[in-house]
Amino acid sequence: MALELKLAQVGEEELAPEYDVVIVGAGPAAMSAAVYSARFMLRSATIGEEPGGQLTLAGVIDDYLGLPDMAAPDMIGRFRDHAGKYGVPLIMDRVEAIEDLGDSRKRVVTLGGRETVAKAVIVAIGSKRRKLGVPGEDRYNARGVSYCSVCDAPLFRGAEAVAVVGGGDSAVEGAAMLADYAKRVYLIHRRDSFRAQPINVDGLRRRRNVEFMLNSYVREIRGDTRVREIDVEDAGKGSRSTLKVDGVFIEIGFEPDTEFARRNGLGIDDGGYIKVDGWMRTTAPGVFAAGDCTSAWVGFRQIVTAVAQGAVAAYSASRYIRERWPGGR
Ligand code: NAD
Repeated sequence: MALELKLAQVGEEELAPEYDVVIVGAGPAAMSAAVYSARFMLRSATIGEEPGGQLTLAGVIDDYLGLPDMAAPDMIGRFRDHAGKYGVPLIMDRVEAIEDLGDSRKRVVTLGGRETVAKAVIVAIGSKRRKLGVPGEDRYNARGVSYCSVCDAPLFRGAEAVAVVGGGDSAVEGAAMLADYAKRVYLIHRRDSFRAQPINVDGLRRRRNVEFMLNSYVREIRGDTRVREIDVEDAGKGSRSTLKVDGVFIEIGFEPDTEFARRNGLGIDDGGYIKVDGWMRTTAPGVFAAGDCTSAWVGFRQIVTAVAQGAVAAYSASRYIRERWPGGR
């Protein structure tokens, strides 16, 4: 009851004309940045489209220290409540522009027509996991369909069979991890060669419980209360088969919002991620970034890494503000 009340109050708040820090996003990285900004006594607000971010797509979380077997909605509630405890408002909106005001401050403008000014901005907009776009994918999301092998492999201990879709390092490393848990792993890849590092592919080929299905496409995911089988088309042979599986891991990459970065003058790397240094500073002074949208730790995207980056970004924003406005704020 207390939690509901506090969240309602948080959701109903509006933007003040000016803040020390505006945090863009509403996933774990943003929530962590919100908590840490407040702990550094910075006046902050979070503007995000969807509270929880990718956690809204998850089922059970079992890889966050101290919170085993956590239902994802409960984890979202805890994160929001923690930011709410520090009085950081979460405004549900989409940030469109971060404009330089010429005096080191930024104007933040949202799609919903809101505007505020901030001394520093922390961008934590995540990045979308690419989907297969086949029947059953959404229906069985978090009920056997997963987009993160490293996150969910341990939930498949003793499973008869799982499928991994993809040909990059995430898919190959994911299949290797899953082969430690499930009795059989199908690696389904649409080409006959891999983008993944050859040493990883060779290592996977030596695993006796991994079957490579190349030139192949998952066409449908079926089940009852959870995933039971998939239809796979072998484009080389022109045949179609049904495989009994307990899980489907879709590891076909991410889609960072490169348009947001370009529009706001933030440098990006070859993968489209916002370039940051070790202190989460972007190429634009006063703008920091955290979580899945950044160039840091690509290939190992976890709640704990997003939360760590959010904390570091808040620390850096705090140092930046105190250096730039030494007489107080
Ligand atoms: P995120 O994708 O979770 O959150 C990004 C948020 O930013 C979303 O709420 C999105 O709606 C919002 N957003 C995007 N563009 C915006 C804009 N222009 N204006 C306002 N808001 C905008 O990303 P994150 O917080 O960086 O990272 C979460 C991490 O948690 C990821 O590494 C993910 O892999 C991990 N995760 C792990 C599990 C697990 O099972 N262990 C489950 C879910 C997520």
